[in-house]
Amino acid sequence: MRDVTIVGGGPAGSLAAADLARDHDVLVLEEHESSGRPVQCAGLISDEVIRMSGVRPDILNTLHGAEVVFPDGRSVIVRSDWPKARVVDRSDLDSRMADAAMAAGAEYSYSEKYISHTVGDHVVVTTSDGGHTTRSIVGADGHSSKVAMSLGDNGPREYIRGIQADVAVTAPHQDLFRIHLGSRYAPGFFTWEIPCGDFTRVGLCTSWSAGPPMQYLKRLLADNGYDSRIITMYSGKIPVGGRRTTYGDRCLLTGDAAGLVKPISGGGLYPAFKATPILCRVLRQALSSDNLSGKALSEYESAWRSEIGKGLDRGYTLRRLFCRLDDGDLIRAGRYASRDDVRSELDELDLDDPSAVMKRIMCHGGALLAAIPLGLRCLI
Ligand SMILES: Cc1cc2nc3c(=O)[nH]c(=O)nc-3n(C[C@H](O)[C@H](O)[C@H](O)COP(=O)(O)OP(=O)(O)OC[C@H]3O[C@@H](n4cnc5c(N)ncnc54)[C@H](O)[C@@H]3O)c2cc1C
Repeated sequence: MRDVTIVGGGPAGSLAAADLARDHDVLVLEEHESSGRPVQCAGLISDEVIRMSGVRPDILNTLHGAEVVFPDGRSVIVRSDWPKARVVDRSDLDSRMADAAMAAGAEYSYSEKYISHTVGDHVVVTTSDGGHTTRSIVGADGHSSKVAMSLGDNGPREYIRGIQADVAVTAPHQDLFRIHLGSRYAPGFFTWEIPCGDFTRVGLCTSWSAGPPMQYLKRLLADNGYDSRIITMYSGKIPVGGRRTTYGDRCLLTGDAAGLVKPISGGGLYPAFKATPILCRVLRQALSSDNLSGKALSEYESAWRSEIGKGLDRGYTLRRLFCRLDDGDLIRAGRYASRDDVRSELDELDLDDPSAVMKRIMCHGGALLAAIPLGLRCLI
C-alpha cells in the first residue's frame, strides 16, 4: 500500500511529492497527459516564490513596477530599483517541478482522473483507471477540488473568473506592467498587460456576479488595438476567501484545493508554497506515529494559519471593501494615490504581501477622510 496518494500534478502537488518522496512511497494522480497544461496563470511571481519552488524555470521577463490606470484615465506609476516580479512560463515551471518530484522518487500516473475516495483503516481511491489503496490522500487538485468537496460543505467563500490572451505586440516599456481598474474592463478586480519581449500577456479577472469575463477581455483588446494580434487565449477560475476546512481523517488539502490564494492579487503560488512544506511536516509525523486521524492532522491548519492566515484574512477584508468601490471612488483613490507620500508607500509594495502596504496606506489621515463616503454607503 502507498503511504501517500496526491491528487493533482500542479505546483502544489509536485512540491508535496518532491518533499514526501524522499522517505515515503508517493503516487501522484494527474488527469492530464502532462503537468503544466492547460495553462491558467499569468506567470507573475516573486524571486521568493521561485526559490520555494525548488526549480529554476525560464524567466520571460523581469518587472520593476506597474502603471495603474484609473477609470478617468489618470495613471500612477509605481516602481522600484529592484525587481518586483519575474514573468515565468507556467507550463515550464509545472513540468520542471514534476520532474524534480519524479527524481526524488514519486511516481506520476498521467491521464488518470480521481473520482472519489472512502476512508476506513486506509483510504480506497476510485479513479478513471480503477483504483488504489493508500494510507493517506492529499488534495492538490486545484480550484474545483473534488477532494476538498469530499470533506462536506467545503466550497470556497468566493470564486473570481480570469481570462487572458497572449498578443503579438511588443510593449513600449518592458519593465512595467499595466493595470486598469474600474467597471469598464474588470468589475471587482483588475486587468493586466504584462510585457514578455515580442508578445504581451493581456488578461483580467472579474467578480463572479459580473458574468463571463470574455466580454471585458474583448473590449480591452479592441480598445488597445490588440484584437487582431491574438496568439493564444485561456481562462480559469480562482477560489478566494478560504474554505471551511483543509483537513479530515487521512486527508489534507493544499494550494487552490485548500483555498490558499491571495484575495487581492489572485496569486496562488506563494501561499501554496508556504503551506505545502507545513503539510509535509505534519503528514510525515502522522505517518510515522501511524495516527492519521483528523484530530492529529488538524495541526496542519493551525500551523499554516499562524504563518499566512492573517495576511489572507486581511486581504479578503480589503477585497470586500474594494468590491464596494464604484468608479467614482476609484477616481478619488487615483487622485489620492498620485500624492508623493502615498506613491512612495506604494513603491514599497511587496508582491507576496500586498495587503501589508494597503493597510499602511489606509492609516494615512487622507485615506480615512476619503473612505467616509464609502463607509456610509456600507452602512446603508
Ligand atoms: C487567469 C489566471 C491568472 C493567474 N495568475 C497568477 C499569477 O500570475 N501568479 C500566481 O501566483 N498565481 C496566479 N494564478 C493562480 C494560480 O494559477 C493557482 O493558484 C495555482 O495554479 C494553484 O496551484 P495548484 O497546484 O494548487 O493547482 P493547479 O495548478 O490548478 O493544479 C491542479 C492539478 O490537479 C489536476 N486535477 C484536477 N482535478 C483532478 C482530478 N479529478 N484527478 C486528477 N487530477 C486532477 C489538474 O489537472 C491540475 O494539473 C492565476 C490564475 C488564473 C485563473
